Amino acid sequence: MRQRARARLYVDDDLGDGLTVGLAAAQAHYLRHVMRLAPGDVVALFNGRDGEWHARVDGFGRGWCSLVIERQTREQGAEPDIWLLFAPIKRARLDFLVQKAVELGASRLQPVMTRHTDVKRVNVERLRANAAEAAEQCERTTLPAVDEAQPLTAVMADWPSERRLLLCAEAGSAQPIHDILTAEAVSGSAAVWAILTGPEGGFDPSELDALGKLPFVTPVSLGPRILRAETAALSALVCWQSVLGDWHSDRV
Ligand code: SAH
Repeated sequence: MRQRARARLYVDDDLGDGLTVGLAAAQAHYLRHVMRLAPGDVVALFNGRDGEWHARVDGFGRGWCSLVIERQTREQGAEPDIWLLFAPIKRARLDFLVQKAVELGASRLQPVMTRHTDVKRVNVERLRANAAEAAEQCERTTLPAVDEAQPLTAVMADWPSERRLLLCAEAGSAQPIHDILTAEAVSGSAAVWAILTGPEGGFDPSELDALGKLPFVTPVSLGPRILRAETAALSALVCWQSVLGDWHSDRV
């Protein structure tokens, strides 16, 4: 009987029949000392390009592990094209936000600095590590792109105009997100989308004003309650996935 994979890892190497993959210290340590794998055990590998492969542990050394690839277990997949732009929040909740956004299938994560963002520096390598871990766990075959933090104004100035942006506006006056998205689904539009959420302090009225004037922006409400930043971002993603994404039968 074929062995079940005991762990699933994102690697950078090319994956293909019979190739050997060498893991660096952190992943080698994880397999050997956390998962307690031994030579002969099977691990699933993906690199975001070549699908998923089963590989067998060949050997461990000090700070390394080598694996021999045996067979492809999944074709390369793609996530729906949905970007999440968010004002960074404090560390533990930012980690949570990134992990959950990856589970929910976001294809790109862009931290944006807004007027009331009080986090001064974003460690993008940490965000990428969180994203890779979440992708390993939720069985994606892709990693999302994770961009360096940028000022909101710079991101808007460079915006690809064909991509529509759902501005989670927190104001009672915006239309409910579900109404906007279902109208899109009914119209059969092939638009691509992004979601933007603000910091704990909310968007400044001047930011909302400026955003409201951009032709690609649609302000939306996530209901009558004020959500914390991470709840808002994840709720908007859930709503998008269930109406226009791959939680919707026409789009699977
Ligand atoms: N400082 C604000 C709350 C900010 S909540 C206040 O105290 O009023 C953080 C972010 O989550 C907001 O900028 C917005 O993008 C989003 N958000 C929270 N609740 C929302 C809602 N009901 N509708 C739309 N967006 C919401």
